[in-house]
Amino acid sequence: MPRIGVSEVESEEPQTILAYQMMGRESDGNTCPFLDTESSKRSPHGGYACKIYENRPLACRAYPVIQSVPISLDPKCKFCENCGTPSGNVNSELESLIQIQKKMDTKARYIWRYATGIGESKDKDLIKTGWFLV
Ligand code: SF4
Repeated sequence: MPRIGVSEVESEEPQTILAYQMMGRESDGNTCPFLDTESSKRSPHGGYACKIYENRPLACRAYPVIQSVPISLDPKCKFCENCGTPSGNVNSELESLIQIQKKMDTKARYIWRYATGIGESKDKDLIKTGWFLV
């Protein structure tokens, strides 16, 4: 689904979409549809395997790096919490994050966000639907 869009002029919706977000298969949008929860395959770390690992999206390649300067890891990442700081792949994760940041770089005057009614049920009243200017 579209997630972030931009416009040079004020309008009903953005002229260009910069980012899309994959929706999960649960009713709250969680659980990536490419997570293999049905077979007995496991990732090297013991979790469910990714069915498209070699072609996974940039955001998945960048995770758990969420900031490049200074390098920050997602504090919600269970792997980082349990196993410490990953080291071997940080360069490729950083490269993916930098590619995402380049795609998000814009001089457009109007930035849009898209939201659906999908999310945690406790947040239903807060979740807007459709495009809205931020
Ligand atoms: S790596 Fe990305 S595409 Fe693969 S299962 Fe995880 S979230 Fe889904």
